[in-house]
Amino acid sequence: MKALAVFPGQPNSLHLAELAKPSVADVPGGRGVLVRVLRVGVDGTDKEINAAEYGAAPEGYDFLVIGHEGFGQVEAVGPNVTELKTGDFVVATVRRPGKSVYDAIGTSDMTTDDVYYERGINLHHGYLTEYYVDSADFIVKIPNGLRHVGVLLEPLTVVEKGIAQAYEIQRRLRVWQPKRAAVMGAGTIGLLAALVLRLHGLDVTVFGQKLAPYRNSDLLEQLGARYLSTTTTPVAQGAREFGPFDIIFEATGFSPIVFDAMQALARNGVLVLSSVTGGDRRVEVPSDKINLGFVLGNKVMVGTVNANRDYFERGVTHMALAESQFAGWLQQLLTHPVRGLANHRELIEMLTTAKDAIKVYCEIAPIDEPTHRDVGVDMAATLSVAAPR
Ligand code: BGC
Ligand code: ZN
Repeated sequence: MKALAVFPGQPNSLHLAELAKPSVADVPGGRGVLVRVLRVGVDGTDKEINAAEYGAAPEGYDFLVIGHEGFGQVEAVGPNVTELKTGDFVVATVRRPGKSVYDAIGTSDMTTDDVYYERGINLHHGYLTEYYVDSADFIVKIPNGLRHVGVLLEPLTVVEKGIAQAYEIQRRLRVWQPKRAAVMGAGTIGLLAALVLRLHGLDVTVFGQKLAPYRNSDLLEQLGARYLSTTTTPVAQGAREFGPFDIIFEATGFSPIVFDAMQALARNGVLVLSSVTGGDRRVEVPSDKINLGFVLGNKVMVGTVNANRDYFERGVTHMALAESQFAGWLQQLLTHPVRGLANHRELIEMLTTAKDAIKVYCEIAPIDEPTHRDVGVDMAATLSVAAPR
């Protein structure tokens, strides 16, 4: 079968590779799930991997199959899989357990190991291929009524983890009643963070670079969030007007903005950092002032990466809530489809140059739109078993 791979360490090496079709028997204990891949999203991490700034091949290979934002349909399951069946729509998590105590309890997203294993990123092949197999432990079912947006689950989980961690940290306050949130960045992660914070009922201000109106600012307006361009409204001014912010989610990829965010944070507030900034940028900051604000204001700043299964399940619930509260909103993020693995040049070209893209993704096999029955029956079941958190 075909797969999209890079030679790690070799810039611009994305190519079509040949891989043996896996089978459920490849996973021990009868827990294998064979998935036919339907769609795979790409993001900045894939861009970095193709630029040879990141990523490593699995042992015994000189290439790495990329793609960590998968979406597919179960084709076969092993004898000890009861939670999934043929035909189910699914998304697999990205990181696989290492050796630390955090890995041992199902939270490999919190690993303290130096080496970590991530499908499509580091030391394990990813999902930009026709089929993959994995243990049911790492595969999450997507309700039929969400199949048209299922490919957005993995990026959503990054947001889910950051926000859930922030709420968990804030239990230190015994009573925390956040009202105003800010999101730094209006890209895919920023938009999804704004969605989840709106679903939590917060007043949301999103800071982006571009002048409004444009596609992303329109999408934020649909959520009832406010968009401010830092070109005309610096963060400090936005915070004076609409803050201070009880929670701030940073997702710009531009590290200097962190120090602006630190100063826009309310007393007792929490700042979540999610940008993976591989460069070595330096800035001068008012350190006494920032430090004093943090000390006298009992503020917290936390970094977040990856997501374990729990956050994938929360993500599914929030997707279902989003579809009922902001119907059709999620689908508007799927702006740039590329048909077929063979069009990989177009895929990477769009990922690196399309200025108005929100989500670029590869459509490996077509999917039908959900029927009314899927949306009504299946989604109602999702919402009733999983209470919003
Ligand atoms: C992925 C995460 C991963 C991180 C670092 C992100 O693009 O979505 O799952 O942990 O890159 O490798
Ligand atoms: Zn990613």
